[in-house]
Amino acid sequence: MIYADNAATTKMSETARNTMIKLLDEAWGNPSSLYTHGQKAKEILEKAREDVAGVIGAAPREITFTSGGSEADNQAIRTAAELGRQKNKMHIVSSAFEHHAVLHTLNRLKKEGFEVTLVDVHEDGIIIPSEVEAAIREDTCLVTIMYANNEIGTIQPIREIGEICRSKGVIFHTDAVQAVGHIPINVEDDNIDMLSASGHKFHGPKGTGFLYVKKGIRLTNLIEGGAQEKGKRAGTENVAGIAAMAAALTEANGKMEETSSYVTGKRNKLIDGLSKIPHSAINGDSSNRLPGNVNFCFEGIEGESLLLLLDDKGICASSGSACTSGSLDPSHVLLAIGRVHDVAHGSLRLSIDEDITDNDIDYIIENVTEVVEYLRGFSPIWRDLTEGKKKFIL
Ligand SMILES: *Cc1c(COP(=O)(O)O)cnc(C)c1O
Repeated sequence: MIYADNAATTKMSETARNTMIKLLDEAWGNPSSLYTHGQKAKEILEKAREDVAGVIGAAPREITFTSGGSEADNQAIRTAAELGRQKNKMHIVSSAFEHHAVLHTLNRLKKEGFEVTLVDVHEDGIIIPSEVEAAIREDTCLVTIMYANNEIGTIQPIREIGEICRSKGVIFHTDAVQAVGHIPINVEDDNIDMLSASGHKFHGPKGTGFLYVKKGIRLTNLIEGGAQEKGKRAGTENVAGIAAMAAALTEANGKMEETSSYVTGKRNKLIDGLSKIPHSAINGDSSNRLPGNVNFCFEGIEGESLLLLLDDKGICASSGSACTSGSLDPSHVLLAIGRVHDVAHGSLRLSIDEDITDNDIDYIIENVTEVVEYLRGFSPIWRDLTEGKKKFIL
C-alpha cells in the first residue's frame, strides 16, 4: 500500500507510539490526584505542555490541550465571539476555504446574531492581506484565517495578516492544523493570538490537539466540569495521548528541514509527472504550498471513481476533504478558488510524507495517468468535450 493521504491523518511515529504505550502502562494515574502516582502523570502532562509551547514559541501557560483541531477551532472562535459580544462587536472576518470546523462554527454564530465576512480566495489559493484589512470594521471582534489549506496546501501570508490585526486591535486566530510540525511557526513573529493544532496531522495520536491562546485572552469553556486546564477545559486529561503528541511534535520539529526538503523534492516530481496528463491542472500555487501536498483537477472524470480505482492499485488518496467525500457537492475549497463544478468534481489530492520513495512516486504517476485515461474512455462529459459539444476549460 502507498499511503498518500497524510492531510486526512498520519500514521503515528515510532517515537509517539512508544511514548504512548509506555505511559499507558506506567503513568495512568489521574493528574489531579495528590498522591505520587497522580503527580507523576501531572509532571508528564506539564512537560508535554512545555515541549509543545517551545516548538511554536509560546509560553507553557498559553497552551490548552484539546481533543483535536476541531475542538480547538470551536473554542478559539467561541472565545473571540464571547469577548466581542461583551463589547457589542459582532462581526467576524474569515475566508471561504476554511475547514468546516471553522465555517460551521461561524454559521452557528450567524444564527446568534453575528455577521461574517468571508474574504475571497484567489485562483492561486492565497489570501491577499490588504483584502483582509479592507474587510475589518469598527465592530470586528475576530479574524480567523487558516495557516495552510487542508485540500490544496497553499500557505497563507499569516505574518502580514497578523500584523494588520494587531495594528487594528482585532483578535487573530489561525487554524494551523496542516502547518504545525510541517513548516516553521512562531506565534510571536507571526503575530498570532490564537492557534489550533491537531496531533494526528503530525504523526501523533488521534483525539489529541491543542489551542494556543496569547496571555491576556480569557478562554470561554466549551466543556464545563472539573478544573483541569486552568478551568478552561474540563475532563480528565488524556495523559499518554498528550505526551505522545508532544513527542511527535518535538520529533517532527527537530527534523523539519530535512523532511521538508526531501518531501518537497518528491512532491515536485509528482507535480511534474501529473502535469503531463492532458487537460489537467494543479490546484493552488505550485510552489507556495505545503511540502507534501499535491492537488490536481482532471477534466472529464469523477474524482470518486478515480479514488476507487486507485484503491484497487493500492494507492490511498483523497478527492476533496474526507469530510465532504460521500456527498455530491464538489469541494468548497475548489469552488472558492474558482473551479467550475464539472472541473472541481474531477479532483485528486495526494498528500505525501517522508516515507514516500522515488519508486512510489513513479508508481503513482503511472497509475493515475492510466486510470484517468481509462475513465475518460467511457465518460459522457469527456465525449462531449472531444466532440466539441462542450468547451475544454483545462
Ligand atoms: C484535520 C483538520 C482539522 C480537524 O482536526 P481534528 O483533530 O481531526 O479535529 C481542522 N482543520 C484543518 C485544517 C484540518 O486539516
